[in-house]
Amino acid sequence: MNLHSDHPFRVGLTGGIASGKSTVADHFAALGVPVIDTDVIAREVVEPGQPALKDIAEAFGNGVITDSGALDRAALRELIFAVDDARKLLEAILHPIIREETVRQANNAGGDYQVIVVPLLTESPLKLFVDRVLVVDCDKETQLRRLMSRDGETQESAERILSAQSSREERLEIADDVIKNQGELNELAKQVAEMHEQYQALARAHRQGF
Ligand code: ATP
Repeated sequence: MNLHSDHPFRVGLTGGIASGKSTVADHFAALGVPVIDTDVIAREVVEPGQPALKDIAEAFGNGVITDSGALDRAALRELIFAVDDARKLLEAILHPIIREETVRQANNAGGDYQVIVVPLLTESPLKLFVDRVLVVDCDKETQLRRLMSRDGETQESAERILSAQSSREERLEIADDVIKNQGELNELAKQVAEMHEQYQALARAHRQGF
């Protein structure tokens, strides 16, 4: 669903943690498609001098800011772990700023079509901003394996991370298209190339008002 018609066709790219979103996004970028990544934006908006950092310091105190003026992620993580509702407050501060910046970057990015990476798209109002949803899908065991090998998580912590996210079924429910990422990495490039063809055609139709 979208609320405008005078913008490049927008594909929302989502998937569970370690499903392969960044890898898929890199393939689109290599084909010349503008990629806007909300995880990257989430890091940019808390850089020193950004208003979001000031809001966080006001809400959580200067203990979450390092001597050099950067966000002390470890201190913030500890606070979120220790204090009820601290995560909700942090999200209430950050999410609107991230969404606004995402919309701004998308509006400036051009392209026939754009890929907008939103890990938690099932829960995000950005669902309304994209014209189409592409889900990178793999089974839970594969996610667990990648979390343990990439991030050094234990089986238990990896399972905890997965259970805090939307389920595979919830993601697939909002999918228009699905890229399966369970096999070899080189199978991914082929699937992205096929999607690229499809999205170029959809973008043409979108420009013509269909
Ligand atoms: P996150 O949710 O943490 O941002 P992500 O969904 O962006 O992760 P990637 O970072 O692309 O996922 O991939 C997770 C890890 O799994 C990376 O180390 C990546 O190299 C590896 N990986 C992704 N796809 C495959 C594959 N098909 N075969 C083997 N390894 C893969």
